[in-house]
Amino acid sequence: MPTVIDGRKISKDIKEEIAHRVDGLKAEGKRVPHLAIIIVGDDAPSHTYVNGKINACKEVGFEYTLLHFANSLSEEKLIKHITKLNEDDDIDGFIVQIPLPDHISVEHVNEKISPDKDVDGFTNQNFGSITSTHHLLLPATPFGIMELLKRYEIKTKGKECVVVGASRLVGSPVSLMMLQDGMATVTVCHEFTKDLSKHTRQADILIVAVGKPNLITKDMVKKNAVIIDVGTTRVEDKTRKSGFRLSGDVDYENVAPLASYITPVPGGVGPMTIASLLLNTLKAYEARKI
Ligand code: NAP
Repeated sequence: MPTVIDGRKISKDIKEEIAHRVDGLKAEGKRVPHLAIIIVGDDAPSHTYVNGKINACKEVGFEYTLLHFANSLSEEKLIKHITKLNEDDDIDGFIVQIPLPDHISVEHVNEKISPDKDVDGFTNQNFGSITSTHHLLLPATPFGIMELLKRYEIKTKGKECVVVGASRLVGSPVSLMMLQDGMATVTVCHEFTKDLSKHTRQADILIVAVGKPNLITKDMVKKNAVIIDVGTTRVEDKTRKSGFRLSGDVDYENVAPLASYITPVPGGVGPMTIASLLLNTLKAYEARKI
């Protein structure tokens, strides 16, 4: 049976390390890191994610500010709030929770975030720094995946890594990180890839970030592969109080027996995204020296 990669445990360890650092800052009479979160509208999953981020700030002792705006907020007004946060010396880092309403361009918004405070690692400067030896604030979910591999001492150098999904949020940055820091041979697959399983079967490390439950079945996976499932889709489940459960992109039950390591959904990559956000906020704070 595989080793199940426990993202909750690693995330907890990271939070304890950060909380220890914050205690040290307090003992020295210094101010603590301050994260601001902007959320626009009432998308239920987004509010759940934001609550998780606020609770994480509380756990580690960060200050936090939540700015919640109505769905009708214009792009222009949102950019004004972003400019204010860029200029606010009390704020070390901030995020704009996505998705945004259709009338607001995520790209326009990202362009306005100061890279020094972009703790989600979305801006072009931070994304581009993946390929430099001097990393800035790395994209949060891919950073979390790399941290999981590191803390489980999973060797990546020279391995065949196949990434399924090529989004700017996860697939593309994690491929670059596996190439740059992981020193793996990387193949990136997307919606138009012909014969997906031909590629996935080659993978020593398979990272899947698509958002299609059960896309990866057991016939698509090499024996002893390391499987990282980023997919998080709400599927109806009437047996649950909430009426839904979260599903990954991998047919976990049938794929797990073949794997050497595997991340569950939930409890794998998800908790690491929040841990990375906290690490980035601490890094942004330390870089400011105020
Ligand atoms: P996205 O922007 O929709 O991108 C999906 C990617 O999958 C695209 O590159 C798309 O290809 C590719 N794709 C679609 N159908 C495919 C198929 N049949 N075969 C191969 N590739 C296919 O999604 P995302 O933002 O990257 O998120 C992906 C999943 O990860 C979602 O379930 C999301 O909820 C989850 N996620 C989880 C976390 C976390 O913290 N756990 C964080 C972020 C995202 P094209 O480029 O050709 O369109």
